[in-house]
Amino acid sequence: MERETELDAVVVGAGFAGLYALHRLRGMGLRARVLEAADGVGGTWYWNRYPGARCDVESLDYQYSFSDELLREWRWSERYPAQEEILRYLRHVADRFDLNRDISLNTRVTAAVLDEASSTWTVTTDTGAELTARHVIMATGCLSVPKEPEAPGADTFAGEIHHTGRWPHEGVDLTGKRVAVIGTGSSGIQSIPVIAEEASELTVFQRTPNFSAPAWNGPLDPETAREVVDGFDERRRAIRESVTSLHYPANDKGALEVSDEERERELEARYEAGGLNMVGVFTDVMIDPAANEHVAEFFRRKIRERVDDPAVAEALIPRSHPWGTKRPCVDTEYYETFNRDDVTLVDLRSEPLEEIVAEGVRTRERTYPVDVIVFATGFDAMTGAVNAIDIRGRDGAVLRDAWAGGPRTYLGIGLAGFPNLFLVTGPGSPSVFSNMVVSIEQHVDWITDAIGHLRDEGLESMEPTAEAQDAWVAHVAEVADFTLMTQADSWYMGANVPGKPRVCMPYLGGVGPYAQRCREIADAGYEGFALA
Ligand code: FAD
Ligand code: NAP
Repeated sequence: MERETELDAVVVGAGFAGLYALHRLRGMGLRARVLEAADGVGGTWYWNRYPGARCDVESLDYQYSFSDELLREWRWSERYPAQEEILRYLRHVADRFDLNRDISLNTRVTAAVLDEASSTWTVTTDTGAELTARHVIMATGCLSVPKEPEAPGADTFAGEIHHTGRWPHEGVDLTGKRVAVIGTGSSGIQSIPVIAEEASELTVFQRTPNFSAPAWNGPLDPETAREVVDGFDERRRAIRESVTSLHYPANDKGALEVSDEERERELEARYEAGGLNMVGVFTDVMIDPAANEHVAEFFRRKIRERVDDPAVAEALIPRSHPWGTKRPCVDTEYYETFNRDDVTLVDLRSEPLEEIVAEGVRTRERTYPVDVIVFATGFDAMTGAVNAIDIRGRDGAVLRDAWAGGPRTYLGIGLAGFPNLFLVTGPGSPSVFSNMVVSIEQHVDWITDAIGHLRDEGLESMEPTAEAQDAWVAHVAEVADFTLMTQADSWYMGANVPGKPRVCMPYLGGVGPYAQRCREIADAGYEGFALA
């Protein structure tokens, strides 16, 4: 069995977070190794290769800011980068900063066990390798564990089944095939128009309709991109300090404070600007149901305008959750796809999905014969990847058990009873409720600075106190309860996975204010952490 014992840190995962963590740790003169289950770097952008996969944060903001050279040498081709381009970017980063020599691919971490006497962790993997390190950084991703298909009978299907989050690398030839897509979240909404182009017939199985705004994607003007790069530091500072971490203006007025005309003008302007511009449209949208309803109703009108058949439009209109309480989607020709003769919408609310049979998908009403089934059914978000690892801390405490009632962290970074173990964008931080690259850089900087502090002070370990963690968990819940977020059966709430505790996992207090709090805590000598 391979053993490595002289490490300062083990980093689990080689997506945006793991790559940057390795770069930072190395820059501090520390010895680190990244363990990655996949056979390549890239994380989300390695796994999610489904047709139409792309980012909905604009390319100029969905990139690292830590290297001016990297920023200047990389050219994004579109307003929103496609999966292939982001993967190429991350591979370039790994090559450019010579990261690959410290990354073990095809290596899944199965357990991490604390040795209390030495304050070190022993990490075991499915390759049999065992690594001992002072610190473990979980860069395992918030959306990296696909949800298992909940439809019985999937093993009896005669055709091909694919999950968007595990799309085959060689691609799937859908030409002339009858395809079913189950799920209409962001992955479904991105892939459905592209699959419709290829397939001979497409049947979309929708359980909950979502709100989606047009992306208005297109080539990125090189001159505009150059100007952004020249002013990048200021742009990035502004989004880091903002609530949303998006480069869109935040309105300082509430939807209920303005005239009908002004409200309509603002909604229309943001819809026309495209993508996630609607985030920040009015101050009260996420806290006041009446304000929210104005936004929801605006989207419902847009759906009716985009869909020819009024009955299909009604089926596509969301009514069961306030706008923004499930992740807002961004599309290219999604609603228009249902105007095609070869595309059928099946509303699972009126005819529930019963099972997969050999010839296709059977609902309560009938069987839909298909050749390929695409599960766009999402992920065991935020806790799935961490809970998949057997993590044992002080007194043999198992993290999975500590999280049985929902995740408990301090700042979404540290865990009481699990010294020197850090989460990147963990539950209890803004994480998935932000531009993730901004949040990842903030977390990795904070964590590696903390590790540097321990080294400089000759200290061996840090862990949150139980009191600090309890107070933070209560604060996260209190902020969530103040919003409408808790009303939706969303993956933010853990509601998409049967049996998962219903807890609002991301921190909704805003990216800028959260980062400020993290800074204050560090400046106060890591307040709320016990350092030993
Ligand atoms: P990941 O990229 O998920 O990387 C985690 C890595 O850890 C994976 O490679 C995984 O294989 C590995 N891993 C997990 N467990 C283990 C283990 N036990 N052992 C070894 N390796 C392990 N965010 C945005 O901000 N804007 C967007 O537009 C956006 N679009 C998205 C589109 C899709 C389709 C998806 C799924 C997510 C999107 N996200 C978006 C969120 C996205 O996940 C983050 O932006 C970012 O890529 C996360 O990087 P990460 O390094 O934290 O995690
Ligand atoms: P998702 O948002 O969780 O959507 C899953 C869809 O599948 C939902 O429509 C869900 O319906 C449906 N579903 C789940 N289980 C089902 C079942 N058993 N039977 C029938 N339908 C079922 O997952 P996702 O679309 O993969 O997106 C996850 C997140 O990844 C996004 O919210 C976003 O953060 C990120 N992402 C971003 C982009 C982008 O545009 N940049 C693209 C893809 C993903 P219910 O709502 O009824 O549960």
